[in-house]
Amino acid sequence: MENKPEIGARQIWETSLGQLELVMPRPSYDTWLKGTTGLSVNGGMLTVGVPTPFAAEWLERRMYQLIQRTLTEIATRPLQVRFQVVSAHQIARGSEHAEVDSVPQNGAPAIPDAHQSPYKPIPCNSAINPRYTFQNFVIGKCNQLAYAASAAVAQTPGEQYNPLFIYSGVGLGKTHLLHAIASAATQRNLHSLYVTTEQFTNDFIQAIRERKTEDFRARYRSADVLLLDDIQFLAGKEQTQEGFFHTFNDLHNSRRQIVVTCDRPPNAVSHLEDRLRSRFEWGLIADMQPPDLETRLAIIQEKAQAMHPPLPLEAAEIIVQRAQHSVRELEGCLNRVVAMAQFTGQAITAELAEMALADLAPPPSSSTITPEEAIAIIADHYHISSEAICTRSRDRKTTRPQRVSMYVLSTSLGQSNSAIAAILGQWNRKTVHNVVTETTSRLPDDSGLRQEVAAILDKIANPLP
Ligand code: ADP
Ligand code: MG
Repeated sequence: MENKPEIGARQIWETSLGQLELVMPRPSYDTWLKGTTGLSVNGGMLTVGVPTPFAAEWLERRMYQLIQRTLTEIATRPLQVRFQVVSAHQIARGSEHAEVDSVPQNGAPAIPDAHQSPYKPIPCNSAINPRYTFQNFVIGKCNQLAYAASAAVAQTPGEQYNPLFIYSGVGLGKTHLLHAIASAATQRNLHSLYVTTEQFTNDFIQAIRERKTEDFRARYRSADVLLLDDIQFLAGKEQTQEGFFHTFNDLHNSRRQIVVTCDRPPNAVSHLEDRLRSRFEWGLIADMQPPDLETRLAIIQEKAQAMHPPLPLEAAEIIVQRAQHSVRELEGCLNRVVAMAQFTGQAITAELAEMALADLAPPPSSSTITPEEAIAIIADHYHISSEAICTRSRDRKTTRPQRVSMYVLSTSLGQSNSAIAAILGQWNRKTVHNVVTETTSRLPDDSGLRQEVAAILDKIANPLP
């Protein structure tokens, strides 16, 4: 049977993956959902391609409700889902023709060993995602150092920063950089090996179980560049740490490059052997921060560059205001807006973007305080009244409090530009945008302003009862 996957199905599924990724534990997400693709949507039924019968069964049994809820929320109509096994090649081709085999609904699918992970941990370069390159990695103040160091190790592995330790919160580009290094190294005929810590652990344990530690060693030692993603998952796994320690030494001694990523700096990873920790500190430690507004805008333009018709700037601005914590969140919001436009057959406008993002739960770290309460706190800080802040006037005394209010309502309360414009006395949305951008870029150099904003944010985070 030949099925032509519809763009709609891919879009819905990708949007859902963006949401699911935020709420699921990382290893589960990586194991079960990562290599899946939306194949078709027919009436109320979305068909999703998965790589193995085992994955199909697991998703069906354990994840069905969460997935179905997420889909229904995104599609704004009830959607059922079913999983079909397709080859990895077909999944990779995604939007091409896909031949699909049905998974038996009740009968046991042919699973060689139900206790084994569905993915044989065979680290090889087919695991490299060609979409993650240096060319499409947007550089900002937030990730400059990590980018430059990654580019350097891809050019001259084993020479300058060894190991390179990159850390950041989720969704800020660590995996992207590792894949970019791997692709660049491969182009230079170097053998790079990308593995998640989960895969490394499975591989190591399997090698011990099957008494094939020599094979394990030989495989990892053959790498010119070893890229190990999310090493926070080594925490507490003593045996695997031991295995990694020896792999590390083998590679380092022969001047091969090692790059690891983590969700925190080495000294903050608990249950990590000291000797491993100290090795991570030998090379370069580079962190990445959430991107500022301008970088977010550049990133969204990069992500939307292939869109037809192009994403209007006004809609992009609304998305970047809404998604402030990570690039993954930013992509999720963009997908959501695109999906909404497709479902409703409307063009993407600022209004549509607002609507698509309106009922998204506010991101976890955002304040629960209302805009009015925040304005009261700001007014109190500047010894003026809330009314003065909320009235457009030429009074110089209110200019600074108003500008700070726009900044705070936007960045800490996640209010849209239009909402802020209305609350603060019928400003133009564009003016609000400009003020927020300008304030963001002034903060690093203006310590007076920084202290004022910090004091206000403290009061907002800990409001008096
Ligand atoms: P992490 O591994 O830190 O959790 P990822 O590397 O998976 O984050 O990034 C999440 C998504 O955000 C990916 O789709 C990635 O391409 C994108 N992304 C992150 N940072 C950037 C950037 N600076 N430029 C372009 N895309 C980025
Ligand atoms: Mg990652």
